[in-house]
Amino acid sequence: MSTLISHAKEQRLIDLASELSAKFALTAAEIDRNAELPKDNLRELFERGLDTAVLPEEKGGAGISYRTFGRIVFEIARGCPSTACVWLMNTAAAESLITLSSPERSEHYLREWKQGKRFANALSEPSSGNLFLNPVQEATPLGDGDWSLDGAKRFVSGAELADYFLINASIDGQPAFFGVERDDTVDIHDIWDALGMRGTRSQLIGFRGTRLQAANRFVEAASPRQNLIALGLPWLSLGIAQAAYDALIAQAKGKKLADGKPLSLVQWIQYETADVHVRLKAAKLLAERLLELADEGSRETIIVSMEAKILANQIAKDAADLGLRVGGGLAFTRALSFERHLRDAQAGGLMAYSSELCRLYVAKYELGVQEQG
Ligand SMILES: Cc1cc2nc3c(=O)[nH]c(=O)nc-3n(C[C@H](O)[C@H](O)[C@H](O)COP(=O)(O)OP(=O)(O)OC[C@H]3O[C@@H](n4cnc5c(N)ncnc54)[C@H](O)[C@@H]3O)c2cc1C
Repeated sequence: MSTLISHAKEQRLIDLASELSAKFALTAAEIDRNAELPKDNLRELFERGLDTAVLPEEKGGAGISYRTFGRIVFEIARGCPSTACVWLMNTAAAESLITLSSPERSEHYLREWKQGKRFANALSEPSSGNLFLNPVQEATPLGDGDWSLDGAKRFVSGAELADYFLINASIDGQPAFFGVERDDTVDIHDIWDALGMRGTRSQLIGFRGTRLQAANRFVEAASPRQNLIALGLPWLSLGIAQAAYDALIAQAKGKKLADGKPLSLVQWIQYETADVHVRLKAAKLLAERLLELADEGSRETIIVSMEAKILANQIAKDAADLGLRVGGGLAFTRALSFERHLRDAQAGGLMAYSSELCRLYVAKYELGVQEQG
């Protein structure tokens, strides 16, 4: 994202994401019901150039700003959150592998990404997904410079489609990151019978003596960089919040009570709509500030991404909850979309860093507490 492209070009990509999102919305309920990967959506995002848009122009991408990247995640999530989640994870894994690998491996990953190969993040360990940057599974040296990994990673979004995994392991007690090409030492276990985000099929992956090649180990970043997942996760929740909010406004305007008056005239609905509206707006403003800081190259994004995530995760739940109450009994069924928004909204606060952990880090930062346990 070194070279910023023109505002008009960035807006065209946001409009494209919005157009595709409206189409994805038509199948989002079916994808959720069947817990199926949104393969066609992912393929279309790739074919319309959104996968590589995040890459700098010198690498054949569009060099979009982080601001545009966040908006794209938001637009896709409004239509189909599972698609947005897999897309965010895939894009972030590919971008990391292309940026942080040796020049030779970087070229390889770049070629593969441009050809539509899929990359997944396999970072969360079953013992504690929130400590994904400090893996406890120790890789074993093979004596030829490479290592071998026996272990497991959990909740790998889009795992079944992935050609490459970004994984981490402990080497001599220190975290180390590698690109791993899928082979027959990598087993995918179908555990994904999930409450929400069912189309992500975030499976458990087992490693049986998987070779971690020294040549595929991350090198030191040339310059400080931003983390696409940390920037994108608030927008994933905000997309769900927006979808729930739009649906509740439509429901309040369209549904008439026995006296023939629309629900929008009911006072408690007016009060609570105002409350959700203002908090959604505030959450979006903070998430926009996060992206501005990222575009400025600020390190403040580490803490602001957590602040933005706290608000975004909560407003997604609250907008869906209000929708459920405005929708009444019918909203308790699949006839209305609120039950799906409510289930999908739970994921944001669980995904690392969880809302609880974000609060802990923000509080410790504010209170000047050094220890980060
Ligand atoms: C839809 C979805 C998609 C995902 N996709 C991916 C993916 O593509 N790749 C990937 O690697 N991972 C992925 N994850 C995993 C995710 O990022 C988290 O790692 C995971 O949800 C954390 O779950 P856990 O059960 O390991 O929680 P734990 O870390 O065990 O946390 C359990 C509870 O303990 C709390 N807690 C944990 N540590 C502390 C602490 N130090 N202090 C106080 N409280 C603490 C947490 O807040 C939580 O309430 C996905 C998860 C979901 C739900």
